[in-house]
Amino acid sequence: MPKKPRKKPVICLTSLTDCEGCLFAILDLGQRFFDLLKYFELGNFDLIEELPERPHYDIAIVEGTPITKENFKHLKELRKKSDLLISLGAYAHLGGIQQIKNWQNKDKRIYQVYKKIRGINNPDIKPIGKIVKVDFDIPQCPLNNEEFLRIMYQLKEGRMPRIVRRPVCYECQIRGYECLLQKDQPCLGPISIGGCEAICPGNSMYCEACRGTFPEADIKGLKKLIGKKEFDRVAQTYGALDEIEEVEKALKKK
Ligand code: SF4
Ligand code: SF4
Repeated sequence: MPKKPRKKPVICLTSLTDCEGCLFAILDLGQRFFDLLKYFELGNFDLIEELPERPHYDIAIVEGTPITKENFKHLKELRKKSDLLISLGAYAHLGGIQQIKNWQNKDKRIYQVYKKIRGINNPDIKPIGKIVKVDFDIPQCPLNNEEFLRIMYQLKEGRMPRIVRRPVCYECQIRGYECLLQKDQPCLGPISIGGCEAICPGNSMYCEACRGTFPEADIKGLKKLIGKKEFDRVAQTYGALDEIEEVEKALKKK
């Protein structure tokens, strides 16, 4: 008897509130993205076309953070009906750029953007992992689409993917880039998770920790070097500051 073909896992690629840059970066893979679909069934990809919601997904990959009531409902429903829920990019993972308002007077800020419109949802921004259980984070703003492909092929093999635990400095120095910290720039490379190939220092921009931090990072030492105010300003850019403070708290408890 011929073997029954194995059912392909059904994936959903969706966004809450954000710029959708990570989904565009996935589309930038071109043919390589379509090759991936030999192994996964695309249940939904709302950047291309909004299809009717399925009752179940094997893997839901979520970009952005919830801001509207519909976003919160969509995220919670996705969690209920998906075996694996993965955050995609710095917004979903850390809060992203829109999280900067949490550190400011957000009620005043919204009227600078929407001068005449009232009644717009303006909650504090939280990474999706603070709202529902997240099984895995794909970091960076926007994501590294090569890393995305690697992760998807690992999932296809039934393996839980892992993100490297080395600082951006490692990737920066093996490429021979000039150290911006040594030029008095507030680079967070020493405490930021690598995997981005140090793309920012490679383009003469200091690292703003868009991939988040790791428990072994010498946060105290870098803060002392850069100064707390400047450190906090840079770490707020993509939402890493909350995560950094959590790592510091956990270290104090030890
Ligand atoms: S430029 Fe930044 S990432 Fe590169 S070595 Fe210096 S501190 Fe590290
Ligand atoms: S260098 Fe830093 S800010 Fe730039 S992509 Fe890498 S982790 Fe993100």
